[in-house]
Amino acid sequence: MDFMHQQLQQLEAASNLRHLPALIHDGRDVIVNGQRMLNLSSNDYLGLAADRRLREAFLETLTPDTFLPTSSSSRLLTGNFTGYTELEQELAQLFGTEAALVFNSGYHANTGILPAVSDAQTLILADKLVHASLIDGIRLSAARCIRYRHNDLAQAGRLVEEHHRTYSRIILVTESIFSMDGDEADLRALVALKKRYDNLLLYVDEAHAFGVCGPQGLGCAEEAGCIGDIDFLVGTFGKAAASAGAYIVCRQVVRDYLINRMRTFIFTTALPPVNIAWTLFIVRKLADMRERRAHLAHIGRLLRDALTARSYACPSTSHIVPLMVGPSADTVLRADQLQRHGFYALPVRPPTVPEGTSRIRFSLTADVRADEILRLIACIPEKS
Ligand SMILES: *Cc1c(COP(=O)(O)O)cnc(C)c1O
Repeated sequence: MDFMHQQLQQLEAASNLRHLPALIHDGRDVIVNGQRMLNLSSNDYLGLAADRRLREAFLETLTPDTFLPTSSSSRLLTGNFTGYTELEQELAQLFGTEAALVFNSGYHANTGILPAVSDAQTLILADKLVHASLIDGIRLSAARCIRYRHNDLAQAGRLVEEHHRTYSRIILVTESIFSMDGDEADLRALVALKKRYDNLLLYVDEAHAFGVCGPQGLGCAEEAGCIGDIDFLVGTFGKAAASAGAYIVCRQVVRDYLINRMRTFIFTTALPPVNIAWTLFIVRKLADMRERRAHLAHIGRLLRDALTARSYACPSTSHIVPLMVGPSADTVLRADQLQRHGFYALPVRPPTVPEGTSRIRFSLTADVRADEILRLIACIPEKS
């Protein structure tokens, strides 16, 4: 095990060693080492996971006959409980698509769909900053992959033009809101590009936008009015929807194909029916969460404007707001400082982000108050 010791020591020396934090949750707060702090690192974007009343209301719907903690099987065998179909019909109806399919997690979705829908005659064009789960999906696929500069659609367009005759299909892969910078892809421009080629497909991961963006909370594609133009529109229930699992909304033929070809769908025990029931319970409420979405947008703007005013580069346009520090060691110190002030915000370091771009990642939720953002801002010094 010498190689492990060595590598762990290297990580430690570079301030990049990670630990599992021991923390206790209490609503919006976390308690770490006896210290209570406001959680600014959660993906509970609408504050639904912290909302005890929702859980109470859901529990009232359950009986020992409906509280089913396991599906005991893949959906292709005996795990296809009725709740799955109900949730998928609800999603298809909300999004206005022919079909929807539910997966065990966003990680399963991204590592399963891409290998299923590509072959050796496929070219994948992926944004430089796409999530690790998409990278892993690309690695598992037989496709060739080229990464284009982050959000550089001119470069993506040139690559499509250069390669579209050589490959049977090109799949362009992006997130809508990006995990680390909190900025957005221009979905309308991507759709316009797609429409110029008959073998270009779009894959959009809305992990950070589902629940948060769009009039009904369906994501950036709803906001941009282009749900029907995206071939693979994917999102997770693990973030704003306060649950676990993930979805694709798509054409019926895509759903039928994935059921037959997607290994991370076929070879795993389906999520517990009780979890699907909770997801459906939340999904049915998302459209009515307009106030929470508006408040989240408001506090995101407050924080971004303050960082810009203090001379920090702030690429974000959303509720995910990075405080760019640079060196990992400084970032860890800054995070400690904020924690002493009662704000639980975590440093994000390589390999999650590129070398030299370590940052504190604020991940705001709708139950953070504006006065708390102002107190947070007061703890952040001018960029030196
Ligand atoms: C969180 C995340 C995932 C993974 O989703 P899980 O349901 O947590 O597995 C996938 N893609 C992006 C962009 C994410 O941020």
